[in-house]
Amino acid sequence: MQDLSEGVAQFQRDVYPAKAGLFTHLATNHRPSTLFISCSDARVVPELITQSEPGELFVIRTAGNLVPAYTPGPDGVAASIEYAVSVLGVSDIVMCGHSACGAMTALAEQHDLSGAPAIADWLRHADASLARIAGESRAQEVDVLVRENVIAQLANLATHPSVARALTAKSVTLHGWVYDIPSGTVTELRTSVPSPALAA
Ligand SMILES: [Zn+2]
Repeated sequence: MQDLSEGVAQFQRDVYPAKAGLFTHLATNHRPSTLFISCSDARVVPELITQSEPGELFVIRTAGNLVPAYTPGPDGVAASIEYAVSVLGVSDIVMCGHSACGAMTALAEQHDLSGAPAIADWLRHADASLARIAGESRAQEVDVLVRENVIAQLANLATHPSVARALTAKSVTLHGWVYDIPSGTVTELRTSVPSPALAA
């Protein structure tokens, strides 16, 4: 905690004054251009990777960058997606996977998750991702699963009514990215997101 407190003090001393105008503007304006969905992994920092300023990215982070397919009922991920798309009106959605993802590694290597039931349940949202890597060589499994999971989660995203509406209106564009931690590179995946009609 000491490091965090020192960080806050440094922010107030050095960073905030340099961007005071921006923060004054942001105090009453929230118009991010992009919904950025990534893993909760501490090594993945959306604003750093994209060099975005405060106010530019609306961020949802979940273990394994998983987005459950839409089902009616209370759901924090669904509510955040709807807010970003329907209320804030983002024009782009980035689904960002990353190298050495713990969630994807646990699935690809079939780790025993019997002692972590919440994680085991949550990772079921990657069942379709896992099904897409059948037959891959073992050495490549995690990397391939990371990529296929981005594609599968974009398909899940398209089942959310707010996203389906925005896709139909062509007011939002979906992107699939993979961030490679050791090299710092970002690969944009070729994605074919199902049309809302097919996803319905
Ligand atoms: Zn991860």
